[in-house]
Amino acid sequence: MGLFIYLNFVYVSRSYQHYWLAGQVKALDTLAEHIGKDKVIHEHESRALYPCPSQAARHIIGVAKPHNIKDVQAIVAWANTHNIKLYPLSTGRNWGYGGGNPVEEDCLIVDMGDMDQIRNFDPDLGSITLQPGVTQGDLYNFLTDHSYPFFAPVTGSSPHCSLIGNALERGYGVTPITDHFQGITEVKAVLADGSIYQGQLDQMDVESSKLAKWGAGPYVEGLFSQGNFGIVVEATIKLEAKTDHSIMIIFKPSDDAEDFEQVVRISRELMQTQKKVVSAIKYFNKAYSVALNMPVPRDELAAPDFDITAWLNDASKKHRLPEWLGLIFIYGNDDLAHIAARECKKRLAPHCKSIVIFDRKKIKLARAANKILPNIKPLQMIKAQIDTVSASYDLLRGMPQSRFLKAAYWRAGELPDNQDDYHPGRDGCGLIWYAPMLPMTGKDLLKFEQITKDVCARHGIFPVVSMTTISEQCITALVPIMFDPATESEQAFACHKDLFESCQAAGSLPYRAHIDSMAWYGADNQTTHFQSALQKAKQHIDADGLMSPGRYQRRKA
Ligand SMILES: Cc1cc2nc3c(=O)[nH]c(=O)nc-3n(C[C@H](O)[C@H](O)[C@H](O)COP(=O)(O)OP(=O)(O)OC[C@H]3O[C@@H](n4cnc5c(N)ncnc54)[C@H](O)[C@@H]3O)c2cc1C
Repeated sequence: MGLFIYLNFVYVSRSYQHYWLAGQVKALDTLAEHIGKDKVIHEHESRALYPCPSQAARHIIGVAKPHNIKDVQAIVAWANTHNIKLYPLSTGRNWGYGGGNPVEEDCLIVDMGDMDQIRNFDPDLGSITLQPGVTQGDLYNFLTDHSYPFFAPVTGSSPHCSLIGNALERGYGVTPITDHFQGITEVKAVLADGSIYQGQLDQMDVESSKLAKWGAGPYVEGLFSQGNFGIVVEATIKLEAKTDHSIMIIFKPSDDAEDFEQVVRISRELMQTQKKVVSAIKYFNKAYSVALNMPVPRDELAAPDFDITAWLNDASKKHRLPEWLGLIFIYGNDDLAHIAARECKKRLAPHCKSIVIFDRKKIKLARAANKILPNIKPLQMIKAQIDTVSASYDLLRGMPQSRFLKAAYWRAGELPDNQDDYHPGRDGCGLIWYAPMLPMTGKDLLKFEQITKDVCARHGIFPVVSMTTISEQCITALVPIMFDPATESEQAFACHKDLFESCQAAGSLPYRAHIDSMAWYGADNQTTHFQSALQKAKQHIDADGLMSPGRYQRRKA
């Protein structure tokens, strides 16, 4: 009898699902009538179109690809009529955080990639208005083609990634405006009732509205960053003028923890006292250096008693890799940049094994040397290191490149021959980013690294850590939880959850979340004051929860 009831239940729910889906497909046809057939895609698996190395997957109603604001408004009106939730994205390459997969099931993805125009550019002030489909590569080409002396705010991800999606998600890079949402001065969006949001001063034709981030009155634009309050159709960003000089310092702190703490203190002081010149600082732990220089030990990994920590220690000893590696990025005119670089070197020297300053001349020499060096096994590691240094220098000068995506293929994945074709979501890589904010003190950074090592050891994951300053007070750590999707997905998810809980217990949490972890925020399983205030705002702006349901929201129990 029990079995009969169960089978009956399965049959009824399957039939309902089938019926429901048929209804959605029909509804999608009516959307095509409104905006055009070519702008609607019938696809029910988001990962088929927007794959993520984190292996996120959601059922979707389909995809709409608007070409203009009118299309966006028509999509919103249609979604209201058919009670369908929308999930807007720019280029959908939010790899490691969910890719283009919505947070919740059964949304219609609104892919803004075809709205890819540069609308306005002020070549004196460096203010530029972009649609969401404009990529880092597009902006870089635009600036170089016209010899405009401004940096594109690039990241270590692909040149095919958007500027607006990245900024809305609070992405960051190394060019002078490291925090990309900080660079946004104005946002235009379509709200859930189809109306337009536009800054007050912009609508009043105040010329400086595009230049002053805060405008006048409450700052509303913040709701669109990591929020779910509308579809951003346009944004203005501030570009930083190109300095004639950029310098990159690579340093290896002595292996003693005490020395590392001193290095963090000194680099913090350098950022505090040389604002804008010392632009950003990065640290990489030993596991990161090993992963950068050696292939993953595929065969050994299969052994049940494989010990990751022992292997990392052996590998780092063999190649004389340091406990920590540091990078400092400096911008300024010739004199200023070199004075700052010398000051950094002088102050860090007592606590470092080596410090090398790379300016334009030295990079040129290194590139020339790399061309002459024969491609033989004993030299391959050095050649690869020179390539990485030279590519990092280009990134520092605002040139986006796919090269750094190669890191996502370390544990698993088929690396395409052509760099421009790298796509860790599509190529079988396994990666979830875990990105907590930490106070910039040596003790805090070491404590976090120890937590990561302990947690990763519990789940058989390599404890790879890098850290990038977002200010002189705060640093973001990045743990790429790398795994083989064929065999290790479950342990990677468990590691992600364990990291979140262990770090929360120790007082740190990510500044940016994977779609699966957005619901984990909250104190003692209670709705926080922050969340309840946000829900009230949401009630007024989007009462039916049409826009990006679940995005940075605690899910209902
Ligand atoms: C190896 C590797 C290195 C990486 N390095 C970096 C790095 O250095 N810095 C960095 O920041 N990231 C990095 N990433 C992560 C990621 O690839 C980039 O942040 C990328 O720019 C995000 O994808 P996107 O630009 O396509 O944004 P999207 O995926 O289009 O957008 C991200 C989210 O923002 C929201 N959104 C986007 N557009 C809109 C809109 N028009 N209206 C409303 N909401 C919208 C959506 O919720 C969307 O899911 C890296 C990833 C990998 C794998």
